[in-house]
Amino acid sequence: MGEFDLIARYFRHPVRRAALGVGDDCALLRISPGHQLAVSSDMLVQGRHFLAGADPQDLGHKALAVNLSDLAACGAQPLAFTLALALPAVDPRWLEPFSQGLLALARMHDCELVGGDTTAGPLNICITVFGEVPASDGRGQALLRSGARPGDDLYVSGTLGDARLALESLRGQWSLPDTVLDTATRRLHQPTPRVALGMALRGLASAAIDISDGLLGDLGHVLEASGVGARVQVDSPARMLACGGAALDACVPQWHQLACVLAGGDDYELAFTAAPGLRDAVAAAARASATPVTRFGCIESEPGIRVLGARGEPLHGDWRSFDHFNATP
Ligand code: ADP
Ligand code: MG
Repeated sequence: MGEFDLIARYFRHPVRRAALGVGDDCALLRISPGHQLAVSSDMLVQGRHFLAGADPQDLGHKALAVNLSDLAACGAQPLAFTLALALPAVDPRWLEPFSQGLLALARMHDCELVGGDTTAGPLNICITVFGEVPASDGRGQALLRSGARPGDDLYVSGTLGDARLALESLRGQWSLPDTVLDTATRRLHQPTPRVALGMALRGLASAAIDISDGLLGDLGHVLEASGVGARVQVDSPARMLACGGAALDACVPQWHQLACVLAGGDDYELAFTAAPGLRDAVAAAARASATPVTRFGCIESEPGIRVLGARGEPLHGDWRSFDHFNATP
């Protein structure tokens, strides 16, 4: 199969939303009047972001999910995406499930594949996603990292740490019971981009980011961009993890669970801030988007992040570095 047959077979579909899709030199997008275009790219590289032999359907899902997560963090509505693919071989047994995983998630978010590039090379998947956010008088409603103010509440969506637990388990760090491993592995391979929540938070959240590198690290970007600090309270890792509970406690120490929650990475949840007067509105946005959110701290003027345990006691740890994964409090 040649390059053009491959594209025609797996990646060329009629478009509904875009003015022109795959097949010409450029795709043409329609943008609603009074909106700004939101654009983001993310690359998945074999050996760095996934292991050789990774399930192609999961890869298709995750490659688009991590990009949609960036749109979610800005409160943008997905429109379209392009796919740049380096393939070691033209293998229908890989391409078929890859395109299925990719396009199933695309359909779910009404986000059309409109173009891309295909070349031979070590497996590399790069997606650029396009979305739109309302703007009036030149002022866009996109959620930015820079708007957090002292006194704001700090929230996170969904659950944290499961993906890192699954990864460490695959690396042989510990062995998880099957039910725990299933939940954790699904979170690692099939992250859920929080697109509906991001859009529902427009006009409410003062700042937002999606968590790809770990809660504290990514929160740090918000704090830096906003010129503030934060106090973070973690009452129990079991409540923050999707796979938390007695079965996990039996094989992974609490301290490691906490490290996964605070610094695990690959979560693709949203961390965001909002004024305390908006608690009811944030709860309504969470309900409307069927996405659980947890309030877990607040913004302070003093720079840095102070991590507190359930009783308000300071927790010390080099959370951002998993070289210190074995540290004890
Ligand atoms: P050009 O040489 O003009 O860049 P190409 O031959 O690379 O065009 O691609 C032909 C058409 O197929 C273009 O519309 C391009 O956007 C699309 N395309 C190429 N690779 C992919 C892909 N992996 N997924 C979707 N569309 C693709
Ligand atoms: Mg090309």
